[in-house]
Order: sequence, then C-alpha cells, then structure tokens
Amino acid sequence: MTPFDNMSAVPQDEIKALQDIGALFYGRGWSLGTSSNYSVVLCRDPLRLLMTASGKDKRSLRESDFVVVDVNGQMVTHAGGKASAETLLHVVAAQQAGVGAVLHTHSIWATILSDFFAWDAGLEIEGYEMLKGLAGVTTHDHSIWLNILDNSQDMPDLARRVQQLIVDQKDPLRHAFLLRRHGMYTWGRDLEEARKHVEILEFLLEVTGRSLSLGKPAPAAIAEKDVPTDLKAALTE
Ligand SMILES: [Zn+2]
Repeated sequence: MTPFDNMSAVPQDEIKALQDIGALFYGRGWSLGTSSNYSVVLCRDPLRLLMTASGKDKRSLRESDFVVVDVNGQMVTHAGGKASAETLLHVVAAQQAGVGAVLHTHSIWATILSDFFAWDAGLEIEGYEMLKGLAGVTTHDHSIWLNILDNSQDMPDLARRVQQLIVDQKDPLRHAFLLRRHGMYTWGRDLEEARKHVEILEFLLEVTGRSLSLGKPAPAAIAEKDVPTDLKAALTE
C-alpha cells in the first residue's frame, strides 16, 4: 500500500501537468482520436504510476480520466475508468533508473517512418542541432538510433521485447523507441524532460520524413571532396 492507492491523495499539480500535455499534444496532432497515453512516477518502492485511463480524449482530460497502476500494470485505484492496454510498456520504461515520466504519442511521422524503416528495425538520425535537446547530447555532431519494434496486441510479449532492448549490454535503448505503424514511446527524468523529448523527436522524425520526400537527404557531414570546386574557391578567397 502507498498513500497514492487512493486517488484523492494524488497531487493535483501532477494531474494538471498531464492535462496540459494532453491539450498540447492534441493540438500538435500527436494524440488524436483518444490515442496515446501518458504517465508519471508517483513513487518507486513500490512503483506507482499516475496514468491516463484507456480511451480518454486528450484534448480535454478531466480529473476523473486518470488511474494509478502498480508494477504489474494493475490498477490500484477504482475510479477514472480502465487502465490502458499499453500500461505494461509504461511500467517497463518507468523502471529504468532516473525515469520520472513516460509519454506515448501516435503522430503521423512516427507512424510513417516506423513502417518505412521497419526492415532495418530502426533508423539513425544524425548531425542535427535539435539532437542537443535530448538528455546527455551536447553537440549536433551526434547520432541516435531509434529502435522499431513490430506492433502487437500481446502486451506482455511486447513489454518483454522492450525490456530486452533496455538491458542490452552492447547498445542499450536510450531516449525512445517506435512501434511499427503505431507511434513512439519516450521518457525523461521528469514530465518536462519527457515533453521536451517528444518535441525534439517529433521534430527530427518530421525533418527525416520530409527530407526523404524531397529526395536523397543531404549527408550529415559534407566531405571536403564533395564541396563543388567553385564553392571551395569562393570560400577560400
Ligand atoms: Zn499506442
């Protein structure tokens, strides 16, 4: 038992912050048609997440549109509706050290690119100034790999696959992952950092998608040999 097993003990500012996220993401087209879900860690031992309930309109979340869930993804409060089918993915992401909030979106670009790059099981994004908005990234001269997992309605299996990527010794999952033809999961040390990660990653996904639509994207770094001779001469004058 924790104090948060009673919905009335959940801090109002946590609910308000998630309501604001819903309005913002709905407005950006990342949480349309009651899609997506958001959670914050209320306490760690035992784990309790405050989370949007299943099927709620993110444009105008009401106070009664939230549930508190435990480490097994089970509701510990009995108001606010049903826990989302994707609760276990939030639990797995939130169990990482230092994670205070998990945000899941269903954007157009995440949906398109998670399909376009599905055969590679991920996509690389490198060389953009906006990468510096991700925790731990200090230069544009950086590359991230966004893993893509096949979508599934078998949440325990999907949660296991995400967990395997998180604990991968060689190349552990960082910042986010995509579900094919579905959307994106990202997180942060608190809700503010998680929101920033959504904004940064959605920006980078859109840039990647639009660049592909225009033709071959420019390489992240331009080798000297690739600079046209007349431009080289102009630059050295
Ligand atoms: Zn979803």
